[in-house]
Amino acid sequence: MSLANGRQYLAIPGPSVMPDRVLNAMHKAAPNIYEGELTEMVGGLRDDLKAVARTRQNLAIYIGNGHATWEAANANTFSRGDTAIVLATGRFGHGWAENARQLGVTTAVTDFGKASPIDLERAEAALRANPDARAVMVTHMDTATSVRNDVAMVRKLMDDLGHPGLLMVDCIASLACDQFEMDDWGVDVMIAASQKGLMTPPGLGFVFFSDKAKAAGKSSDLRSPYWDWTPRNEAQFFYENWYGTAPTHHLLGLREALTMLHEEGIQNVWARHTKLASAVWAAAEAWGTEGAFRLNIADPAHRGHSVTAVRLSGDDGTRLRRWTEFEAGVTLGIGLGMTEPGEPGADAFFRIAHMGHVNAHMTLGALAVIDTGMKVLGIPHGPGALDAAAAALASA
Ligand SMILES: *Cc1c(COP(=O)(O)O)cnc(C)c1O
Repeated sequence: MSLANGRQYLAIPGPSVMPDRVLNAMHKAAPNIYEGELTEMVGGLRDDLKAVARTRQNLAIYIGNGHATWEAANANTFSRGDTAIVLATGRFGHGWAENARQLGVTTAVTDFGKASPIDLERAEAALRANPDARAVMVTHMDTATSVRNDVAMVRKLMDDLGHPGLLMVDCIASLACDQFEMDDWGVDVMIAASQKGLMTPPGLGFVFFSDKAKAAGKSSDLRSPYWDWTPRNEAQFFYENWYGTAPTHHLLGLREALTMLHEEGIQNVWARHTKLASAVWAAAEAWGTEGAFRLNIADPAHRGHSVTAVRLSGDDGTRLRRWTEFEAGVTLGIGLGMTEPGEPGADAFFRIAHMGHVNAHMTLGALAVIDTGMKVLGIPHGPGALDAAAAALASA
């Protein structure tokens, strides 16, 4: 007997849960790509994406995943031999840096470890050591560690030091989950993808860029025709938006997802994620009063609101994930990048996603399933986690 045979809940930090409204919007016959509804809706879709990113500036859309946006952002920003300052807090900053290196960019990487946000003093040292760097690269929320960085603080540091570089931010895991203000925070390049807070299947990547980045990028010698953000941003003909055939059904799904986000209101979307995250953290703290259960990020102010990285001990993380998936219908995220490849410790870690199309009953359900799984498997844990989660949601 298994208790998994109801609706499955994919609680991993991307791809996230797709709303029925998004799925139904995609269930259509192939649309005309030369005129009609699809071609007419793209202007509004671009405006609505910019509204979610809190920018009035520029946007290039790519048929690709998050990695594609890493390369798109790099190719339009850098020239061969430029230096990039990378402030890495977990795994994804290193990935973006590696892409830059492979394109011929020199990277000056400061690694803040697997459980801490960017530290101002070390960031300042990196900026002072590389005054001519073309850009500073930051991950808003690292999906492996669930650490969240203060992007406005990095901008202020750059301004205080008079650093002329561009500020580039990876918001793939945080856009439409955590508050982000591209224009107010002085961000020059911001990247995102369809399959996380935007609740749409993987396959669309977004590069938002400031007028300053647009001007600076004109001299980049890493641009190639496909990745060049200029025609995608200023398309004269519909196909120039995509450099070829439009991603028809992704656009239909994304259109509906953006409508849902704007119906709710982006501030309410952020508040919902904040509240649900607080329930997860409250449960985790209760579990941690006995046994090995621990949150990866100690200070709530530095935790992302769309995913929570946690650990048990031994192989209990993997055992618990298997139980929740196969016996209860909830798929939790694997631990990512917390140990070196090949080390046995990886099985202690897992991640709970609360990203995108999630509500109280989904989050409370996932927490109750984790609680039950630990009881079934004999994994030691403190009591009262579900009461604590309920209290967190009930509080003003
Ligand atoms: C998911 C993610 C990526 C990579 O996105 P893909 O679509 O898997 O290529 C990059 N950065 C962050 C912060 C992410 O969460």
